[in-house]
Amino acid sequence: MNEFERELKKRLEALREEGLYRELRRVDSPQSPRITVNGKALLNFGSNDYLGLANEPALKEAAIKAVKEYGAGAGASRLICGSLGPHQELDEALAAFKGTEAALSFSTGYAAAMGTICALLGRDDIVILDKLVHACIVDAARLCGAKMRVFAHNDPDDLENILIWAARQSAGKETAGGGTRGRTLVVTESVFSMDGDQAPLREIAELKEKYGAWLMVDEAHATGLYGENRRGLTEELGVSGQIEIQFGTLGKALGASGGYISGSRALIDYLVNKARSFIFSTAPVPAAAAAATAGVRFVQSSKGERRRALLWERVKELQEGLGGCSSMPGKGSAIIPVPIGEETKAVEVSAALRELGIFIPAIRYPTVARGQARLRLTVTAAHSAAEAAEAITALRSLRNGVSGK
Ligand SMILES: *Cc1c(COP(=O)(O)O)cnc(C)c1O
Repeated sequence: MNEFERELKKRLEALREEGLYRELRRVDSPQSPRITVNGKALLNFGSNDYLGLANEPALKEAAIKAVKEYGAGAGASRLICGSLGPHQELDEALAAFKGTEAALSFSTGYAAAMGTICALLGRDDIVILDKLVHACIVDAARLCGAKMRVFAHNDPDDLENILIWAARQSAGKETAGGGTRGRTLVVTESVFSMDGDQAPLREIAELKEKYGAWLMVDEAHATGLYGENRRGLTEELGVSGQIEIQFGTLGKALGASGGYISGSRALIDYLVNKARSFIFSTAPVPAAAAAATAGVRFVQSSKGERRRALLWERVKELQEGLGGCSSMPGKGSAIIPVPIGEETKAVEVSAALRELGIFIPAIRYPTVARGQARLRLTVTAAHSAAEAAEAITALRSLRNGVSGK
């Protein structure tokens, strides 16, 4: 064994000792309430397929049609000759769905965050993040070279203090051309990915206006689920018009894959010119774009509304049924965290649940802070009431294990 492998094995061993080792599980079924994991049939409470669209006939048929008409691969980046009909249709469908002037799809949400934040900010700028934003935002904020500051989770007072500091930093930085250097961008999620709690978007939007900052909101866990037109929590709270950069994924409630940015025509034209993860990457396969468009249309339809209603029924049943097991932040979200604490313990409880035929993943550092490991149960519109009841029974039977920190 050479020195390289010895070094890596040592690092992997350290991960195992800390209960942080990860490995892939083979799933031999479509994403749905019942999946086959490593050969065992399990009731699945681990996906982000909130509306049950990942295996929906309308999306599958759209993908198949796109393969037949446009082939398997896109063959080039969007800006060379890979911007095929399905990609253009998806961008238009997203803009119409979100009610913005324009929208741009990316190969993943991760790529959308990286491309967008790095296109907008540089060394002279400041980026302010909620403490619990997703890794893709943290990575983008680091890569863009701007000064990074973090505000306490969902705490507008702390954000304001940092905005005051930022305003002092950029004072007097006007360029000769009349433009301003030293821009400040605030980034938060609307519904947080690990706890399902909601950001105080009205307060944050007010603050960013007061201090002349820009705002980017990640709706990964809200798109399709909140607001009259199911555009997201920004719609439900009536703040969409104040958000410069709306961001989301096509891989969760929308049932396909990819990421999107929606906003003004100027923003989208700028990203087409400047977002490196968009420019220097092959366009997504036509099937992915077509499936996402079908997902967007489904969500907008009356069927989409019915799915959403079903989802909230299941959420309510689980929240009521789990009572003391979970630390539900009160407000409605399809993400139900069951706090455990120690990493190894969370892995054990998750394994015990698998023995009972239920898949609820253990979430550990670095996805959440050290010592804050948890089970993260996600429910979807595709689950039946009986399936939700099964999860409640299993979690209750493990209650001692679950609450023993
Ligand atoms: C999943 C997720 C993303 C990334 O989206 P992908 O399309 O999966 O790359 C971004 N932000 C949050 C909060 C997410 O949960």
